[in-house]
Amino acid sequence: MSQSIAVIKGDGIGPEIMEATLRVLDALDCGLTYQHIDAGLGALEKHGTLIPQESLDAIEKYGIALKGPLTTPIGKGFSSINVQLRRHFDLYANVRPAISFPGTRSRYDGIDMITVRENTEGAYLSDGQEMIDDGETGISVIKVTRKGSERIVRYAFELAKNNGRKKVTAVHKANIIKTSSGLFLDVAREIAKEYPEIEFQEMIVDNACMQLVMNPHQFDVMVTTNLFGDILSDLCAGLVGGLGLAPGANIGEKAAIFEAVHGSAPDIEGKNIANPCALLLAAAQMLDHLGMNEKGDAIRQGIRTVLETRRDMVTPDMGGTGSTDSFAQALVEYVQSH
Ligand code: NAD
Repeated sequence: MSQSIAVIKGDGIGPEIMEATLRVLDALDCGLTYQHIDAGLGALEKHGTLIPQESLDAIEKYGIALKGPLTTPIGKGFSSINVQLRRHFDLYANVRPAISFPGTRSRYDGIDMITVRENTEGAYLSDGQEMIDDGETGISVIKVTRKGSERIVRYAFELAKNNGRKKVTAVHKANIIKTSSGLFLDVAREIAKEYPEIEFQEMIVDNACMQLVMNPHQFDVMVTTNLFGDILSDLCAGLVGGLGLAPGANIGEKAAIFEAVHGSAPDIEGKNIANPCALLLAAAQMLDHLGMNEKGDAIRQGIRTVLETRRDMVTPDMGGTGSTDSFAQALVEYVQSH
């Protein structure tokens, strides 16, 4: 069965790492058809807007998008495309795996966890929802709803269930922020009862930070509200060696968008040295989402093997002497021989 996905090559190094990623997906024979759509600087030149309506329509039609990093022009009144996409499609779940890979500068080995961050409410509200901003006093609101909490916690449990994961930890600050964080925790406890096969743990956010740094292996899936998730997911990326290997997904009812966490790296554009791994890992997350977990695992295992055994094919940021093309070639060879 063929599945069409929308592909946004992106700006800067986007086209290079996307080409590498699609080569590996093709070698895996996933039955995917790519519908290339415009967004970012290229779209601005062609259509006068960073994200044209046709591109939004295509993402809605196919339901899945693989997206290269996009450059948001500075100081010209442009709002981030990522924020626009999140609002347009109500992409409520930001899902960020943190997995240890060999050859990375990190404190720990063997980390394999996923942060599920509520992406639409919490302390990050849209413009105009701030309470007081008179130059003397700043008061912001935190909005947590039962509906928003239910869908994010349920998403985390379903993710755990469908990926053979054993534990979900709800991270909160209900002891101090009783109204909003308290509601999130109450809902998490209720939803957890629907999944007796999955261990449920609750942890106050400050303790979670310490536990992550001291004993990260105890975590499996973490679910939390917007602000805590923003911080914790970067903390987790740091635990496994930084953003170079960090993928992320933004998931809603109507669409799911998979991307690298890093930006468009204009400083190395066109040099054939961009590391394609984060986008490849986002593609692996996409395959998991489409029920092709074995093919997703093949990408993850391929990256592990190439990092361990083919330093001559790996990009310089990972200490190798290869290029974007050679990294992709090594992965193609891996998936074709396994
Ligand atoms: P960046 O992530 O693009 O680059 C930071 C540093 O990391 C640079 O030195 C870069 O060379 C390096 N780097 C990043 N990705 C790499 C890769 N795959 N391989 C090797 N080295 C890599 O961050 P920035 O410079 O702050 O932002 C550049 C642009 O990217 C900005 O316009 C920003 O708005 C945009 N951005 C987009 C996204 C997105 O679309 N998801 C995310 C972050 C930043």
